[in-house]
Amino acid sequence: MSSKVVVAIDGTSGSGKSSTARGVAARLGLRYLDTGAQFRAITWWMLRNGVDVHDAAAVAARAGDPVVVSGTDPRDPTITVDGEDASIAIRTEQVTNAVSPVSAVPQVREHLLELQRTIIGDGGIVVEGRDIGSVVWPDAEVKLYVTADPAARAARRAAEEGGSDQAVTEQSLLARDRIDSGRATAPLVMAEGAHHLDTTPYTLDEVIAQVVALVEDAGAGA
Ligand code: C5P
Repeated sequence: MSSKVVVAIDGTSGSGKSSTARGVAARLGLRYLDTGAQFRAITWWMLRNGVDVHDAAAVAARAGDPVVVSGTDPRDPTITVDGEDASIAIRTEQVTNAVSPVSAVPQVREHLLELQRTIIGDGGIVVEGRDIGSVVWPDAEVKLYVTADPAARAARRAAEEGGSDQAVTEQSLLARDRIDSGRATAPLVMAEGAHHLDTTPYTLDEVIAQVVALVEDAGAGA
């Protein structure tokens, strides 16, 4: 496996991006970067420090303050904020409900963009998010745009969360998609040259196999 390949995986919330990206990275011996976790980490820091997440100017003023460090082992991805493990804290409902408005603030995106490009460095990595193929790394050798039916996404997410209400989960996913797709800076779009993968009818293993084949077909796996 070349150490230079960059695989960009973007798509809607709950479409299976994270599990796919981790599985592909593990299979191909690549690093893994979850950029959603970075936006969640900043959101968690804002909530903790009493910043009103719906006040874009207040969020912008503090955007550069949190120090976010991402571990890139797909079998054990870590994230710390100001040296503190945040991997559990960033998955709470409170953070999930606040992350899209925080991510729409351009200063937050600028701060993380620099960090993301530094981590990608000379490649050998699978990166997942909303704007990886369009903004963060438009030269990625393989770009994926991953979607799934809202009902399938909600069912998977509700099962992961131990039986939370599927209708409520679906509304939450769709609300995030609306904000992420409608924002002015780096909205969720299908990047030029991206393969569209609708995961609705497939198991995770099938999706991982399809993406591994795409990376190998692109000659990036040689
Ligand atoms: O991937 P995940 O659902 O954890 O991402 C959480 C949120 O972070 C998204 O809903 C979106 O608002 C934001 N995000 C983003 N750009 C990325 C990755 C995530 O705006 N590249």
